[in-house]
Amino acid sequence: MKKIAILCSGGDVSGMNAALKRFVEYAFDRGMQPCFVENGYEGLIDNQIHEAGYSDVAGIISIGGTKIHTSRSERFKEEAYRRKALENLRTHGIDGLVILGGDGSFKGMQKLADESGDIGFIGIPSTIDNDIAGTQYCLGVDTALNGIRVSIDAIRDTASSFGRAFVIEVMGRECGYLALVSALTSGAEMCLIPEIPYDLSVYKEDFLQQKKEGRSYFIAVVSEALKNSEEISRWFEEEIEVESRVTVLGHVQRGGIPTVHDRLMAFHFVTTGIDALLGGTKSAVVCYNNGTFVCKPIEKVAFKKYYIDEDLLKLGREFESPQHKQV
Ligand code: ATP
Repeated sequence: MKKIAILCSGGDVSGMNAALKRFVEYAFDRGMQPCFVENGYEGLIDNQIHEAGYSDVAGIISIGGTKIHTSRSERFKEEAYRRKALENLRTHGIDGLVILGGDGSFKGMQKLADESGDIGFIGIPSTIDNDIAGTQYCLGVDTALNGIRVSIDAIRDTASSFGRAFVIEVMGRECGYLALVSALTSGAEMCLIPEIPYDLSVYKEDFLQQKKEGRSYFIAVVSEALKNSEEISRWFEEEIEVESRVTVLGHVQRGGIPTVHDRLMAFHFVTTGIDALLGGTKSAVVCYNNGTFVCKPIEKVAFKKYYIDEDLLKLGREFESPQHKQV
């Protein structure tokens, strides 16, 4: 294997730049020429491919997002454009491609792998939603969680000062992982996610009792999947009789200085991926489970439903029937 390339596809995450740095340095270590594909699958179709050197990755480890940009590509869903993408890879003499992305990107990668035959493809789970089956961790999650934690801590200051409820809407698409971990680690009074059933009448009884004992504010973390932040805010005003505000955290959750954990995870994901390519793997996704990194076939990752870890759900079940908390 002489030349390998890397691209970012779908939503960007903090830690992608650390992955690019490791990719370039490790490729050179193993005697290969690293290449960048700019702008995701769009750039692959349009031949935005160039060789990368050490200077391309100098100073980027501490920056969020991705230096080589990302995209969503409708064209890539059509075989004719994927054929063009494969032609471009072959013209550049690229024998292996590493793709940082989510579930959708891996579905696209599977098609490319099936249609190629000669080139190797490795996926690295990269999405703040942490919703990819087969891996306990996706790149960018830790940075997103820490960013959310900073926001919720700040909101708690104003909530307690004014005596308000705040309904904080957290990203995650259909998955409640981000909201659940954020609620647990920021001491929220309420957490609503699709994976845990909830009963507002149970919350009402508990919160009214807490109010009687002096609690003046509440923090509720709500997964975007439920699409009910405004409704929950009205519920606070009408049923708990406390002034309420909604804060949709939005895209701030995607950016920010990558945490140490994400930088290190990026290094491990990329190293494992490149080793797999060198070992002759034709298509796989690097997964992290219980401290180890392994490559799994795409069909065991991209086409399966992700379930939140049972131990974490057990912790989250305290929100199912909230125990009375001391104020
Ligand atoms: P995120 O979780 O951050 O949204 P993602 O990789 O799931 O990341 P998608 O927008 O779903 O993001 O997919 C990224 C790109 O992958 C799409 O824009 C498209 O180019 C390609 N892709 C997705 N699904 C398919 C598919 N079924 N066939 C071919 N290509 C696909």
